[in-house]
Amino acid sequence: MAEIGSQVGHVVALLRAGECVGLPTETVYGLAANAFHTRAVTQIFEIKRRPHFDPLILHIHSSRQMLDLTSHIPNDAVLLAQAFWPGPLTLVLPRSSQVPDLVTSGLDSVALRMPAHPLTRQVLQKLTFPLAMPSANPFGYISPTTAKHVQEQLGDKIPYILDGGPSEVGIESTIVGFDGNNAYILRPGGITEQQIVSVIGRLVPQPEATGTPLAPGQLKSHYAPRTPLTMLTRAKVEALEYERRTAVLVFGAPLTQYPHTEQFNLSPSENLAEAAHNLFAFMRTLDQAGFRQIYAHWLPETGLGIPINDRLKRAAGLG
Ligand code: AMP
Ligand code: MG
Repeated sequence: MAEIGSQVGHVVALLRAGECVGLPTETVYGLAANAFHTRAVTQIFEIKRRPHFDPLILHIHSSRQMLDLTSHIPNDAVLLAQAFWPGPLTLVLPRSSQVPDLVTSGLDSVALRMPAHPLTRQVLQKLTFPLAMPSANPFGYISPTTAKHVQEQLGDKIPYILDGGPSEVGIESTIVGFDGNNAYILRPGGITEQQIVSVIGRLVPQPEATGTPLAPGQLKSHYAPRTPLTMLTRAKVEALEYERRTAVLVFGAPLTQYPHTEQFNLSPSENLAEAAHNLFAFMRTLDQAGFRQIYAHWLPETGLGIPINDRLKRAAGLG
């Protein structure tokens, strides 16, 4: 069973030896390995049971690495990196020959992110290679936001999980792609559209998909609990009659008809950042509690409400 601990030196040694480890980030916990080590990256796919068409994000700590891993950097990508790195933003850029095909699933682009979590930054600074690091959960299931979540799901497959406390942001990074110098959102996440537009002035619509999914976070069912989750309007949730062994996931004022123990409130004060922080942990608790059915309602479609609704939609299989 994977040990949970705070030994950065041990993690660095494991990664240098080509092992996979669990690492904390401000978005969710990651399953990390040396991006240049074929066997280590292959293990990531095997451990997660992740299909090989699903490319991995490379995690870096310096702009030098960004230059080495790319063949061209649009101006707006430079501005976004300056504004939001380290932080929950991933940039998909034309790749250099240094990037292995296995990591990009053969695409001619590479996804890069500079994470902000101080422990993972310490790890990256001690390494001479970038880390390939998807979320540390079996493919398609709820993303982990604590070391314990990782241990529960992948503990028998990895030697060590670095404990950095609960992930502060709680949902994945925003992925931005480029068509020339025109930026578009591939997956909504921890940096909002408004934040991006405030730096580069505008976003263009995402170009038509070309066969392989551009981002599997775009798959119809993803981030999904095993308990059926039904999305309703707030008004419909308020009108529900309480049924045994069902639970509600709400935001804002509590429901009067549902018992406390069957009511999970993402943020009673309607704070979207708090809701994002709680989302996956609440879905996991709900999923483990043995309910027959979960009902949830949409959040306001603004700011962090957009990526939260995106995750809820896929959790309900409505992609
Ligand atoms: P995850 O690490 O599980 O949150 O997933 C990372 C996301 O980044 C996936 O949805 C990938 O498809 C996406 N991604 C990684 N590399 C690329 C790329 N070169 N082009 C488009 N999307 C990418
Ligand atoms: Mg994931």
